Amino acid sequence: MTYDLAALKARLDGIRTEDNPALVRQKSRDFYWYSPTLKRQLDAVTGDIVVLPASEEEVLRVLAACFDLGIPVTPRGTGTGNYGQAMPLAGGVVLDLSGLDQVLEIAPGRVRAQAGAILADIDAACGPSGQELRLHPSTYRTASIGGFIAGGSGGVGSITWGGLRDLGNILSLRIATLEATPRILHLTGEDVQKVAHAYGTNGIILDVEMPLAPAYGWIEAMVGFADFGEAAAYANALGEQDALLKKLVSVIAAPIPQETFLRHRAFLPDGMHIVLAMLAPMARAGFESFTARHGGTLLFRSDLLSPEEAKGLPPLYELAWNHTTLRALRVDPTITYLQTLYPFPNQRELVARIHALLGDEVPAHLEFVRFDGKITCFGLPLVRYTGEERLAEIVALHEQHGIPVFNPHRYTLEEGGMKQTDAAQLAFKREADPKGLLNPGKMIAWDHPDFDFDAGRTYLFPGLENRNTGDSG
Ligand code: FAD
Repeated sequence: MTYDLAALKARLDGIRTEDNPALVRQKSRDFYWYSPTLKRQLDAVTGDIVVLPASEEEVLRVLAACFDLGIPVTPRGTGTGNYGQAMPLAGGVVLDLSGLDQVLEIAPGRVRAQAGAILADIDAACGPSGQELRLHPSTYRTASIGGFIAGGSGGVGSITWGGLRDLGNILSLRIATLEATPRILHLTGEDVQKVAHAYGTNGIILDVEMPLAPAYGWIEAMVGFADFGEAAAYANALGEQDALLKKLVSVIAAPIPQETFLRHRAFLPDGMHIVLAMLAPMARAGFESFTARHGGTLLFRSDLLSPEEAKGLPPLYELAWNHTTLRALRVDPTITYLQTLYPFPNQRELVARIHALLGDEVPAHLEFVRFDGKITCFGLPLVRYTGEERLAEIVALHEQHGIPVFNPHRYTLEEGGMKQTDAAQLAFKREADPKGLLNPGKMIAWDHPDFDFDAGRTYLFPGLENRNTGDSG
């Protein structure tokens, strides 16, 4: 695909752009390389130009120009997504929104911020009011709020507050459409779901209104168990303790913590399966009693460390969620992972069954969450990778046991999700992006409405099959 970039640049006079190929390539990437499949498929993907608007008015000018000239627009926060979400499959403009980074308003229970604001910066601004975001991904220190809403799902905080999909966890969004004269729409309630987790395929998020929770100096704890089943049972039960306020409950099977949590290594005896927890300070004594009741060994408490011991330790949430995978990859670059859900109420039984089958080929990693008032867990198991065929068998094995896999080795919304069209997102795309220029190739329902998800084929965006990916379209 070639686009009239000269005409585009003339239309964008006064707006910052970057067309140095090395820099454009760098801004056309995210953490897609976590997946050997995506690495093979997407390595050659690059945009043609990065546009860096500094204001909402500049965003609207870029969108109007791209509509007229038929140039694709792929929005980008800070590029920490895992599935090639922010990678411009059809080239064109990478719209870098990191310049829209203002916190606009803080009130009791809510904050309004521009889409490019970094999550940790939003919390820093809310700090003086004693409040913080309910939820954040483990990429808290680097990711943007717009990217979290368009590409993420939940994370730290989900043990108390659920996920981004839950009504009330995103209060409202202001978005811009990609039309001849871009419109600004204000979405609230159910309408937020049209754009949330749509990978920027049907609107550019300009600013967001998010609910806030009381901020605490969270205590970090690690608890060890000799038996993995006991660790999972303890974590599940800790999740259910409504009176102990928590922000994180994770379980990581031995030997992953010992092999990959290098800075915390001194606290982690060989062979122990580790539960990570973040607790509000007033829960301290209750947590100690609860842990003793369950026979857990308290290995680490951030509030008991000397300044010397605390030096150089990353925050505990950077050992959890997808940071567990990142740390494992740093030690063993051949490792990859899956994302699964163990549905309530059989979560513990399903975890036990699948890990008994897969053993050390797929070390367990559980993240406990509260959905609709019920405690259950996601899995982010590591996979000692031996090839795409075996990976597909492992996925199939999970599905056969009633464990849905949100496949992180696919770049489309549908294949990475529930393998079905999201009718509300598709309908909204018709309205907000009539030419189909926003992040092309990520919504199969738009490009290929008859695609058969049950045929066992992987969707390949037209154009990628010419790039020596080894796949056929
Ligand atoms: P990007 O990667 O830049 O973009 C993500 C998607 O959103 C892309 O499709 C992009 O096109 C679109 N987009 C970006 N900005 C806009 C906008 N303003 N309007 C419309 N579309 C937009 N995710 C979780 O949910 N929970 C976790 O705990 C978690 N942990 C992670 C740990 C690691 C180590 C890594 C590498 C990733 C993790 N992620 C997690 C994924 C990712 O970091 C988060 O979802 C993050 O919030 C994405 O923000 P970003 O600014 O990097 O978005």
